[in-house]
Amino acid sequence: MSRPIDGHLARKRFGQNFLVDQNIIRKIVAAIAVKAGEPIVEIGPGLGALTAPLITAAGHLDVVEIDRDLIARLKEKYSPEQITIHEGDALKFDFGVLASKAAGGLKVVGNLPYNISTPLLFHLADYAAGVKEMTFMLQREVVDRMVSAPDEEAYGRLGVMLQYRFHMAKLFDVPPGAFHPAPKVTSAIVRLVPKAPEELDCSDDLVLSKVVTAAFGQRRKTLRNTLKGLLDDAGFVALGIDPGARGETLSLADFVRIANYCVERA
Ligand code: SAM
Repeated sequence: MSRPIDGHLARKRFGQNFLVDQNIIRKIVAAIAVKAGEPIVEIGPGLGALTAPLITAAGHLDVVEIDRDLIARLKEKYSPEQITIHEGDALKFDFGVLASKAAGGLKVVGNLPYNISTPLLFHLADYAAGVKEMTFMLQREVVDRMVSAPDEEAYGRLGVMLQYRFHMAKLFDVPPGAFHPAPKVTSAIVRLVPKAPEELDCSDDLVLSKVVTAAFGQRRKTLRNTLKGLLDDAGFVALGIDPGARGETLSLADFVRIANYCVERA
């Protein structure tokens, strides 16, 4: 078991790895670049490594935290003018309530708990319309999947579905030594900026999700097999897509064309 930090024992079940490297903290806060009065929410403030400088810059911060001990500390340290604490699970949190109050869009940030990062990214994608930008620390391997391109090893459902909604860029790596306790893997900072409504050219997101999930469901199988029931021979011909190819060769634009074709034919 690792030694306590500030009298708190890190809880594995909440994915707690606290940032302790001041240079890295400064670099992340600079990347977030929040202005005074700008609406911003931090997921998992923990012991406040990012929270403190973000409050200094923004004046006020909303936070979503699940750990009651950490919530008690935040309440002691900050006044209600500085922080609004939403106690509970970020996976169930309605970010739309904050987004609807945020003229110009909400900034969402966090050193995300690794054990829930993928479902959390999908949850947050639902609120993209009300978000200005999101800046997250994640396992580098997850960031690589998010920004991957066709034919790359990391390319899959996570990348395609998030690239449909967001422009994304990996900003920089963060080594394990920047945290206590140190995780086993390298982390990375990623920025997600929601695409404008006119860039979202799929007529039904649920159909897109269905097509992408099917295409990557069995990686070794050809599209003829994985898309059975969704796209017939005539569809492959009409779209000019090779039924003998595999899902990982298709671009985001190809997936959108397939989904739109399915919607038209339904
Ligand atoms: N922001 C702090 C830092 O950078 O040092 C802590 C980051 S730590 C990796 C993740 C934080 O998310 C912890 O404070 C943890 O308690 C919190 N957390 C874990 N699961 C959560 C959930 N489902 N909803 C909200 N917060 C969660």
